[in-house]
Amino acid sequence: MTDALLADVAVPLPVDGTLTYSVPNAMLDEVAVGKRVVVPVKSKLLTGIIWKIRSGEKARSGLRPIREIIEPQPVLTRELMKLAEWISGYYAEPLGEVVACMVPPQPGFRNLYRLARDPGGLAMAILKAEEPEKFALLEALKDGKARSTETLRRKTALKGLKAHLEDLVARGYLERQMLLRGRREGKAIRQPRASEIHLERHDLTREQHLAYEVISEAIDGHVFKVFLLHGVTGSGKTEVYLRAIEHAIHLGRKALYLVPEIGLTPQVMQRVRGYFGERCAVLHSQITPAERYRTWRRIRWGEVDVVVGARSAVFAPLDNLGVVVVDEEHDASYKQQETPRYNAREVAIMRARTTNSVAILGSATPSLESYYNATVGKYHLCELSQRISGGELPRVEIIDLKNSEDSSLVTPQVKTEILNSVEKNEQVLLFINRRGYSNYIQCTECGFVGRCRNCNVTLTYHLRAKELRCHYCDYVEPAWPACPKCDGTKITYVGSGTQRIEEWLAKDFPHVLTRRFDRDVTRRRGRAEEVLSDFTSGLVGFLVGTQMVAKGHDFKHVGLVVVVNADVTMNLPDFRSAERTFQILTQVAGRAGRGEVPGRVLIQTFNPDHHSLAYVACHNYRGFYENEILLRKDLSYPPFRRLARVIFLGRRNNEAKDAAHTFAGIARRLASRYPQDFEIVGPARAPLAKIRNVYRWHILIKVAPTKRAGSFIRKCLEKMPSGGHEKIVVDVDPQVLM
Ligand code: ADP
Ligand code: ZN
Repeated sequence: MTDALLADVAVPLPVDGTLTYSVPNAMLDEVAVGKRVVVPVKSKLLTGIIWKIRSGEKARSGLRPIREIIEPQPVLTRELMKLAEWISGYYAEPLGEVVACMVPPQPGFRNLYRLARDPGGLAMAILKAEEPEKFALLEALKDGKARSTETLRRKTALKGLKAHLEDLVARGYLERQMLLRGRREGKAIRQPRASEIHLERHDLTREQHLAYEVISEAIDGHVFKVFLLHGVTGSGKTEVYLRAIEHAIHLGRKALYLVPEIGLTPQVMQRVRGYFGERCAVLHSQITPAERYRTWRRIRWGEVDVVVGARSAVFAPLDNLGVVVVDEEHDASYKQQETPRYNAREVAIMRARTTNSVAILGSATPSLESYYNATVGKYHLCELSQRISGGELPRVEIIDLKNSEDSSLVTPQVKTEILNSVEKNEQVLLFINRRGYSNYIQCTECGFVGRCRNCNVTLTYHLRAKELRCHYCDYVEPAWPACPKCDGTKITYVGSGTQRIEEWLAKDFPHVLTRRFDRDVTRRRGRAEEVLSDFTSGLVGFLVGTQMVAKGHDFKHVGLVVVVNADVTMNLPDFRSAERTFQILTQVAGRAGRGEVPGRVLIQTFNPDHHSLAYVACHNYRGFYENEILLRKDLSYPPFRRLARVIFLGRRNNEAKDAAHTFAGIARRLASRYPQDFEIVGPARAPLAKIRNVYRWHILIKVAPTKRAGSFIRKCLEKMPSGGHEKIVVDVDPQVLM
């Protein structure tokens, strides 16, 4: 048996590793690692990427051949292939699925055919007699123009057109060109026009300059280094990013600039374009596939120096990287909530590491993990403690809702303050975090909410069973008839939405224009920019929104920020709830007083004593951090342990539950060999115990920082009996525990 060339191909399927195919002789010259190919899997054709080429015996193994090589050049560089392997291993995700989200799907191609050489009269005569279809095609193309398959089909009305055309290509009579399908369509997010771009270049403040100096030095040294740029809201972090990028570009290197929300790309793009002109690009999922593919190719062929984008832009195929910026690094939306469940911040750091470049993580409220890394010297901390031009941070006041008489949305004091702002012609931002679920109960007399003593997370109220349950460890207690703390009997649900606030404002302040800014509104194309520009221009007086309004926006005329109810994030059954509360409130407070107008923030809550609030009120990140890090240490949460979550989904509750118990048994047995390294918590019902009729159970695994959760879980999964009906989802470093 002779040796043949085999190719291992990563295909987007939930399988481990790659599948092997034979390389047909006709492709021997073309085949190369990193190229995109079409391969058969069972009865389907899938697009995958060649991972490895080796020789082996094709005949004996009965391998199927690669069908087609799509693009002439490899789509993945070696660097990105290594990155994909790391992600696959670390997050326990199938390699092919990781790869599939690195490269944009190829938009349709149109094949165009054109005469390559004139067959001459004799050949035509023979063709006419023996192969009339081919004769007809050559006739249709004899003027030398390129025509699409569809045009030729119309002209000749032939059956099996494609086969005839390809045969003529193989015989050298025709040549084929591929044309990208799809016109430039209106983009979902309007990027700035050239006329709107102007270079706004500031002289750096002293603090900005200090940060810039150490960062640029690291870029010069071509060494891997992570900087945590901790700067209060409005301290000019963007300017530091841009200078660092500029420095890298001067040295012939390139940059990646990540933002947490697609909605922030236009404003960032405007600044970036001002600095770097046309050699920049935006990459995110809301541009049309054809546009995305075109942009991606521009980047791949080195025509772009700076790529701006949300999560998936971290895979931009830039070579010779110099800087990676992760703005608002604490933001949970860097974590993808579906397969592959990577965190773009961590991937960005990994890219910086393998390319000896610099990563800059920026935030006014760094994640505990990142700040911890800075305190132990893994990251280098740079601080911007002042707002630009000495602008004051807004004054924050906590409004106690306990025992507030009526059930209106805001207290009389808050209403008066809104009225004052309106009279002073200032804009008002009203913030409500609806992402929580109001299924917890609270004593309205003392603000008490039940917490699990094992896990320090909010107990979730189950209406039907009238019980309180911990969704990490499954601890249960009966719902209290009276408050266990103050014996009060006024016990209620919490929660109100943006729509309710909008209606109330329209009723009480009919002469002020109100706009709502939340997922429901911004799902409509172009709507987000419309609302934001109406607000920035001053047309709109009240902006009501969820966490989306808190992020990054540089509003100049907001005098008052009202947090309608701060308790929703506080009471999420999640160990990060205090951190999230601190972050979101600090961010939203940071929207006030960014221009001439001094800012004021009113936070309504049933929990005025919650430790996050005190630190928000005095803008004390460090204080918050030091308090919170102790809790994390006590309970072995990140950053002291890594966390992984395994979720079991089943049509029947018992399917999910049994699978969870089986897995937990396997995991505990395996973990007993390394008791210091792995701790299994649960199984328990997930806080969202049933979604669309699918039951959800989960297990948490706490892992020593030196160990890999991914490989541990893979080992457990291998031991799971096959044939169950449940589905298992693995989430390493989860950001959401619902
Ligand atoms: P952050 O991202 O830290 O909240 P921004 O980067 O949005 O802050 O900066 C806040 C404002 O200050 C922006 O309008 C920006 O143009 C301006 N700015 C930044 N740096 C300077 C500087 N050195 N001198 C003057 N204005 C500056
Ligand atoms: Zn518990």
